[in-house]
Amino acid sequence: MAFTLPELGYAYDALEPGIDAKTMEIHHTKHHQAYINNLNNAIAGTDLEGKSIEEICKGMDMNNMAVRNNGGGHYNHSLFWEILSPLDKGKLSGPLLDAINAAYGSVEAFEDAFSKAAATRFGSGWAWLCVHDGGKVEVCSSPNQDNPLMPGVGCGGTPILGIDVWEHAYYLNYQNRRPDYIKAFLGLINWNVVEKKYAAGK
Ligand code: MN
Repeated sequence: MAFTLPELGYAYDALEPGIDAKTMEIHHTKHHQAYINNLNNAIAGTDLEGKSIEEICKGMDMNNMAVRNNGGGHYNHSLFWEILSPLDKGKLSGPLLDAINAAYGSVEAFEDAFSKAAATRFGSGWAWLCVHDGGKVEVCSSPNQDNPLMPGVGCGGTPILGIDVWEHAYYLNYQNRRPDYIKAFLGLINWNVVEKKYAAGK
C-alpha cells in the first residue's frame, strides 16, 4: 500500500504568527507530498513495499539515496505536523519533565541545547529530542532528511520532537533569521503529543 499525505488535523493558519499559513500550506501540500510521491516511486516493486515508515528508516540502506532522502522526508514531516498540533497542547510535565531535568538540569538549559543544535546545523536538516531505551532523553541533529532512527545518524534514539531547519520551513516569514523561527517553534510545541511519544518510546 502506497504512503499518503497525513491530514494536519488543524488549519494552515492555526500556528500564526509563529509559523505563517502560506509556509504551512506549501510545506504540507508541496514539500511533504513530493517526498511521499518520490518515496512511493522508489519502493515500488521492492521488498520495502508494505513496510512501515519506521521500519524503512531503521533498516535504511544509507547508500540508497532515493529511499533515504524521501523516506526520511516522509517520517520527519509526519512527526513535525503532529508535535505542532495546536489542539490540547498541554504543558511539559510528569516523567518527560523529569527526564529533561535529569539530562539538562532545567527546562531552560534543555531549550538552549535544542536551540543551539537547530541553529548550528549547517545548511538543511533537523534538530531532535530523542528518547533512549530506559527513558534517558538526548538532543541531537542530522543533515538533510536523515533522522536518528537510521543507522549511524545523530544520537541513535527515537525522535519525540523535531524541528525542520530547512529554509523552506521558515524563509517566507523569517528569511535568514533562523534563531527567531526556532524561538517561535519552542512556543508552539504540543507537549501532550511529545509526552505520549516519550512514554511509548522509552
Ligand atoms: Mn520541510
